[in-house]
Amino acid sequence: MQLRLYDTLTREKRPFVPLDPNNVRMYVCGPTVYDFAHIGNARPVIVFDVLFRLLRHLYGADHVKYVRNITDVDDKINERAAERGIPIRELTEETYNNFRDDIRALGVLMPEDVNLPGKPPRFVEPRATEHIAEMRTIIERLVQGGFAYVAEDHVLFSPQAMNAANSILPRYGALAKRTLDEMIAGARVDVAPYKRDPADFVLWKPSKPGEPSWPSPAGIKAEGRPGWHIECSAMAWKHLGEQFDIHGGGIDLVFPHHENELAQTCCAFHKDRMANVWMHNGFLQVEREKMSKSLGNFVTINELLATDKFGGRPWHGAVLKFAMLQSHYRQPMDWTVDKLKQSRTELFSLSFAAGNANLISQSLAEVAAGIEQPIDEEIVHALCDDLNTSLAITRLRELAKEARNNTAAAKKLLVALKFLGIMDEKSIHYFHMAGPITDVSVGQIVHEKDDGTTIERLRVAQANGQLQRVAELAREIEGWGVSLRFLPDGTFSIESRVATNRGRKVEELIEDRNAARARKDFKESDRIRDELAAMGVVLKDGKDADGNPVTTWEIAR
Ligand SMILES: [Zn+2]
Repeated sequence: MQLRLYDTLTREKRPFVPLDPNNVRMYVCGPTVYDFAHIGNARPVIVFDVLFRLLRHLYGADHVKYVRNITDVDDKINERAAERGIPIRELTEETYNNFRDDIRALGVLMPEDVNLPGKPPRFVEPRATEHIAEMRTIIERLVQGGFAYVAEDHVLFSPQAMNAANSILPRYGALAKRTLDEMIAGARVDVAPYKRDPADFVLWKPSKPGEPSWPSPAGIKAEGRPGWHIECSAMAWKHLGEQFDIHGGGIDLVFPHHENELAQTCCAFHKDRMANVWMHNGFLQVEREKMSKSLGNFVTINELLATDKFGGRPWHGAVLKFAMLQSHYRQPMDWTVDKLKQSRTELFSLSFAAGNANLISQSLAEVAAGIEQPIDEEIVHALCDDLNTSLAITRLRELAKEARNNTAAAKKLLVALKFLGIMDEKSIHYFHMAGPITDVSVGQIVHEKDDGTTIERLRVAQANGQLQRVAELAREIEGWGVSLRFLPDGTFSIESRVATNRGRKVEELIEDRNAARARKDFKESDRIRDELAAMGVVLKDGKDADGNPVTTWEIAR
């Protein structure tokens, strides 16, 4: 199937032809780690995760490499660390770990999900501070090539020098579709005195006391630190080479960040292009307004996953992802409470369609046995058209309709949901679960204490991996006088702290029935089963880890 992608540089959608189909390479600009990422930051993470999954499907998991960097040296980081009075490394590590926890809940592939021991990495998250040597090398090359110059301990890149070079190099401004004059007019009025030209941008700058610093390139004595744009040129070069296939990021990065990355890389390595395809996801606004701290509509991924700030409840990560994928990635997107509510309702119906217990256990068994689960062609076809995720979702809805009386469609739906990273067997179970209360008397306690929101919050927190929140909510629920038990399948049950009379009676009957079964008195065994059924108790016969028969029970719903 032919993948077609829209290229920001040429402004056209065209067939994607990898430089090397055995080594398809994608770079995406990652977060600057100084604070929780806002929901707009989740958009490229989700969009390029879908593309990564599609590329792995089309070219094979061994033949795709994904690099998403971490910017861990930046003015905002220095300022925030100083404000909080903590070392920079502590701030960047903490923020990076929070970022990982947040996006993991969104069901995106992580390096540890795809990298295999002893094999070249398929997903790399390089840190800027670990690539200073590569940055210095590129800067030296740019100075030697006449594209950059030293002034007052800074190294500056000269777009004019790039455009004056009569060679295969692209024109500066080609990506942003701006002329140099327009860019100069748009530059800040107060231009630093050491710049030869207002359009020149910083590759390296001296560090102030207390700021991180490294030995400088280009013969500069004072120690310094890199500008932002050079980081990505260095990390892309190190991990993907001088040229690669896809460079992605948010639309706000086109200028100046990507324009400058492209200029640096092409001039340093004498190439006509940096990436074959430049892809940019559209803006995200919140409730029809631009997200900003001053408007009070600034919302982080973490707040959506763990707090009531947006819509009065925490949201399962799959809801956020499903809502995000309904818009085409290049379109601007309006993030609204209504959209999340609709997405949640829709995930319920998709999970019911794909969530029959036999199908789930069959699917898990297939995965464990390494059996390939073919992905619905129409889904792949939709994604191959410049990641048409809304069309892919339309197909999910069709499959859900067919799934009512067609197991093959249900299975296709389950596999497609997994492929897109929307839900897997475990989270389908979460959406599908009818209730965790295993005893009528416990049910009464819970309903007296709670209208269902605390237990729902616990489910969401558990599904999102918010372990601290899980512990808080568990304490709250146990304060009602019941016990919570977390089960190996990722769910939990709420049980009585002391065995109730009813519970004891049920246990006695089960023992009697087990004894009847052991002496092959199936008549008696069936009679006891019916007696229990009349009490509203459903028996489940199974085997424990050692293969011995065990019987569990739950309240019929
Ligand atoms: Zn970048």
